[in-house]
Amino acid sequence: MSITSVDIAIIGSGPGGLALAQGLRKHGLSVAVFERDLVRADYVQGFRLRMHQHGLDALRANLTDPLFEAFLATMGKAPASSVTLDERLRPLATPGAGNGQGGREDQHQAHLDKSVSRITLRQILLSGLGDVVHFGRHFERHELADDGTVIAHFAQGAPVRARLLVGADGAGSTVRRQLLPGYGLVDTGKRRLAGKLSLEAAARHGLPAGLLAHNVSIRPHEGRPMMISTHRVDPESFRHHGLIGANDAGHAGHKGLHFDNTASYVWWNTAYDAGELGQDADLERRDGAGLIAALLPRLAGWDEALVRLIRHSDPSTVGFLKVRTSEPGARWPTGPVTLLGDAIHAMTYFRALGANTALHDAALLTRELVAARQGDKAQHRALADYEAAMHAHGEAAVTESLHAMLRNIEAARAPA
Ligand SMILES: Cc1cc2nc3c(=O)[nH]c(=O)nc-3n(C[C@H](O)[C@H](O)[C@H](O)COP(=O)(O)OP(=O)(O)OC[C@H]3O[C@@H](n4cnc5c(N)ncnc54)[C@H](O)[C@@H]3O)c2cc1C
Repeated sequence: MSITSVDIAIIGSGPGGLALAQGLRKHGLSVAVFERDLVRADYVQGFRLRMHQHGLDALRANLTDPLFEAFLATMGKAPASSVTLDERLRPLATPGAGNGQGGREDQHQAHLDKSVSRITLRQILLSGLGDVVHFGRHFERHELADDGTVIAHFAQGAPVRARLLVGADGAGSTVRRQLLPGYGLVDTGKRRLAGKLSLEAAARHGLPAGLLAHNVSIRPHEGRPMMISTHRVDPESFRHHGLIGANDAGHAGHKGLHFDNTASYVWWNTAYDAGELGQDADLERRDGAGLIAALLPRLAGWDEALVRLIRHSDPSTVGFLKVRTSEPGARWPTGPVTLLGDAIHAMTYFRALGANTALHDAALLTRELVAARQGDKAQHRALADYEAAMHAHGEAAVTESLHAMLRNIEAARAPA
């Protein structure tokens, strides 16, 4: 089988891999992205991302000006203010002590009101990359060649030779598995449930405006905290940007609200200890209606509006996730294979840092590879500098996110 050659091969078309491809393209470097799935329809793809300043800066650096403007123009909105309430919706005097998604600010400045649909962000990041992204290419392994290049092998199609292979293939990274055998994800023992309801349905079910006007942290006297927020989109703003902000044709077969990219919605999430709501195997088997049924008994004594929020959530949007993190300290000898994003520093969802960190990695690696291309430093030096900085900020984000999760648990147990 003949081998195709590319300069820089990226495995994975998540936010990190695509932002890197955009940045390299913007600076005239030759790049190809290899993605296994034709459509991105994993559970979290139906939700929005909260943006931090470093994620916004990274997008500004890597996107062309028109694409960055389209990103700003089509972004959704979340509430800019946060409140902490008990389960009867009575205000508590500890603003932000909720579930680690609001309140005490982290080292990265968060824009509470900047709510980006993952579907819209993907449409933006794929724009102009039609000849760069190759779908249906499941990466299996790499092989180091004597001439210093690397050969990537796929389940389908010809192998690809590259000067640099970047593993941007997410938390279960196959690239990482070969580069760092034995390094894996760590189960935090927390289990997350989340779901959403269109704002139209929220009005129909009489959810009070106060519940929809802020980022609401419910801190019950007993039981587990719950975070509630809204994502509002303005379909009018999409009109000037072609397909950006529209529904993805690839999601057409999915019923329900989950992948409806044009609806404004209220969403909630909550976390329990493993085993608390039921055995993992049972919860993993349940559909959205079954998960709602598992959660509702835990809300006995909660305000009826909160119970209605859960009861009337669109079952297609309700999902169960094991919360995982990664261990710091994983290193490999700098060479023609490197990693970015969740592939090397997967973290819990608390603090909303994972995608922002992946975007930050992408901007940093772009800057280093451009410097190498311009002859300002050797590629080896550029990669070593990227890896040192990426490990430092990536591990800081993993720690910050884990601490936010632990604080959330303490907040849940402390007497209110
Ligand atoms: C519940 C939840 C909420 C979150 N909320 C936020 C938030 O608000 N803000 C935030 O910043 N972060 C958030 N995150 C984290 C964020 O989702 C991740 O950090 C981010 O998606 C990582 O991007 P990535 O590009 O590194 O990897 P991914 O998004 O995982 O993309 C990896 C890509 O690689 C592809 N791939 C995998 N294996 C192969 C293979 N063998 N061959 C070819 N392709 C492959 C996959 O199909 C995928 O397209 C949240 C995470 C969760 C679980």
